[in-house]
Amino acid sequence: MAEAVNPFESLQEQIEDAASYVDASAGELERLKHPQRVLEVNLAVERDDGSVAVVRGYRSQYNGDRGPYKGGIRYHSNDTRDEVKALSGWMTVKCATVDIPYGGAKGGIAIEPADYSPAELERITRAYATELRPIVGPDRDVPAPDVNTGQREMNWFKDTYETLEGTTAPGVITGKALSSGGSAGRVEATGRSVMLASREVFDYLDRDLAGATVAVQGYGNAGSVAARLIDEAGADVVAVSDSSGGIYAAGGLDTAAVKAHKNETGSVLGYAGADEEITNEDLLAADVDLLVPAALENAIDGDLAGAVHADVIVEAANGPLTPEADDVLTASDVTVVPDVLANAGGVTVSYFEWVQNRQRFAWTEARVNDELERVISNAFEGLVRTHEERDTPKLRIAAYVVAIRRVLEAAREGGIWP
Ligand code: NAD
Repeated sequence: MAEAVNPFESLQEQIEDAASYVDASAGELERLKHPQRVLEVNLAVERDDGSVAVVRGYRSQYNGDRGPYKGGIRYHSNDTRDEVKALSGWMTVKCATVDIPYGGAKGGIAIEPADYSPAELERITRAYATELRPIVGPDRDVPAPDVNTGQREMNWFKDTYETLEGTTAPGVITGKALSSGGSAGRVEATGRSVMLASREVFDYLDRDLAGATVAVQGYGNAGSVAARLIDEAGADVVAVSDSSGGIYAAGGLDTAAVKAHKNETGSVLGYAGADEEITNEDLLAADVDLLVPAALENAIDGDLAGAVHADVIVEAANGPLTPEADDVLTASDVTVVPDVLANAGGVTVSYFEWVQNRQRFAWTEARVNDELERVISNAFEGLVRTHEERDTPKLRIAAYVVAIRRVLEAAREGGIWP
């Protein structure tokens, strides 16, 4: 089990790790270690039985030097102010790493969605959108889906904002349904960038992704799409897991059939094409070329990292390695492609959605996928160049160096005022 790690302290540590590779003053770095603004809201919401529940939410606007604040909204009972602050900082780094013109933000409501009816969730979302209204907007702060939120919540948020503002403003939020101004390719975007990052890193290491063996931890939106696209790229996905456990097939799994089985039964377990069922620990320690953690943060701690056999890790989840695990894996020469690049497909296609909303013109899925490939390939190239030029010990540090430089450049151009 992963040790308790405060994600905001991890973020600050990661910024400190990169600091010596960046030409920045102590004051500039200190500013990058804290959000610009955090809003806490306490929402009084009528329950279906007529009683009133008070639920707490947050929105952290970390940095807006490069464009509107941008980041998802999660509904999770463990949501804390520090978690939301950390996630908003990672969004700042992510948007700058892949060079899309956004700052970073994140929002959260500390509820277990399963405890509320759809009508109650709608009232909670609309109350949250009403409280956030003064600080969001297509040119200010653009939320998106995250853990336990999706198109439904985005559509409620957009409708609340538009009704209160008396206008149409699809660009106030991304991750909407296609018929409400969403983008083709958005649902697959995160998994697609994980596949693209895997292909790039194998090329960089002079290896072929086709024929490589792969294990994927977590078979939700990010993990199952990444597994299928990596499978289609010719690799053998030999092990996958979800919260109920894992499955293994030495000759490779039919990733689409596993997904169909999970949709039907709720779990990857029991899939008929597997050789055996394995634990999540077995999956993380599997003797494969590539490991893709696509479940939750802190999935791999220092102890588990010592058991990893893969030579390459591509992070689909946000923060799947504890800082200790990251150090252990670096010491064992495992190449880690950091989350801020590997899963940036989600926010990149969110950006394309926002551009389409502003243009009032929908792109084809082929165009979305081509533009995404360009963004991820360029970002990977920039990251590797910085890694080699600055001799950073990890690709993650190179990503932070690239991102911090870009944010500081914009901040310096704007100057300090008032
Ligand atoms: P999801 O809820 O669709 O899937 C999560 C999966 O992880 C589920 O299959 C669940 O069963 C599994 N899981 C949970 N605990 C596990 C455990 N201990 N061992 C193995 N599997 C476990 O969520 P998602 O949208 O796929 O997000 C997964 C990760 O990717 C999160 O860290 C999220 O922040 C990150 N991410 C997602 C997107 C996106 O667009 N979906 C974008 C960027 C980052």
